[in-house]
Amino acid sequence: SVPTSILSALTYAARNGVLIRSGRAIEILARIDTVVFDKTGTLTVGHAGVNDVAVMDDRFTSDELLVLAATAEQRLTHPIAEAIVHCANHRGLTLKTCEEWEYKVGLGVAAQIDGIEIRVGSPRFMKTENIDLIEFERRFPDALTSGQSLVYVAGDGKLLGVVMYSDPPRQESQDVIRELKSLGVTPYMLTGDVKRVANAIAGNLGINPNNVYSEAFPERKVEVVKEIHDRGKTVAFCGDGINDSAALAYADVSVSFAGATDIARETADVVLMENDLRGLIMAIKVARDTMDIIW
Ligand code: ADP
Ligand code: MG
Repeated sequence: SVPTSILSALTYAARNGVLIRSGRAIEILARIDTVVFDKTGTLTVGHAGVNDVAVMDDRFTSDELLVLAATAEQRLTHPIAEAIVHCANHRGLTLKTCEEWEYKVGLGVAAQIDGIEIRVGSPRFMKTENIDLIEFERRFPDALTSGQSLVYVAGDGKLLGVVMYSDPPRQESQDVIRELKSLGVTPYMLTGDVKRVANAIAGNLGINPNNVYSEAFPERKVEVVKEIHDRGKTVAFCGDGINDSAALAYADVSVSFAGATDIARETADVVLMENDLRGLIMAIKVARDTMDIIW
């Protein structure tokens, strides 16, 4: 039979905006000593503000570039996709239809628009597509040191432009990291984003740089979770994306958000219904109290 206090813990958590899907999740939450966070959309707000578009090809205006990028992104639920589509809508731009599109998890999106092969995504994605970024770095040297995030937009194998946006930490992230440490729980950050941006956010939040992993593909995310687990740690993984779903499955306990991608939200042991990371702190405290009472 289910101990009454586990039931009341589940009920208490649910009333306070945290869905805990099993008694077992409570038992593990009480013991975790490590939380591995995804960055984009988890520690950061995700639906970032686009600041600027650097045009690298005179055949296009910055609005036309945004239309291409937003058209490629329009069916994705990734926070970068949402930021770009939102920006295009905000500028009153009309999106095109794309003939074909494919989400390259952890890299970006590929689409065919007006017969052009469009690629939108990370420097690594551009590299795999043999798209040269040197000219951009030469013309916009400040872009790489500004602390902004960059999304590259290429067409038919050539860089057309770069969307520059800022993706600041969630307002509660710094407090949550501090609270975790005071509970004796070590925070890690695991992101597909580049080192420069990952380290800047981690530094801002107080995450030890040794515990930051950047340019991590979905498979790498799983490996890191397993490595930490195999060192004898009890690991919670907290993430929001398709790129996180395997890591969520391998963690001792998985945490996601109401607003996350379907697969992340549906497989998570713990869902933060208010989309607020403080729910995780509450869940850990409730779990510890409950297990103290039982044992
Ligand atoms: P995180 O692990 O921080 O959530 P992802 O693994 O989702 O990040 O993405 C890693 C990188 O791949 C991003 O920083 C971005 O450069 C690129 N990327 C991923 N998805 C998209 C997308 N929909 N549009 C553009 N770029 C993307
Ligand atoms: Mg994410």
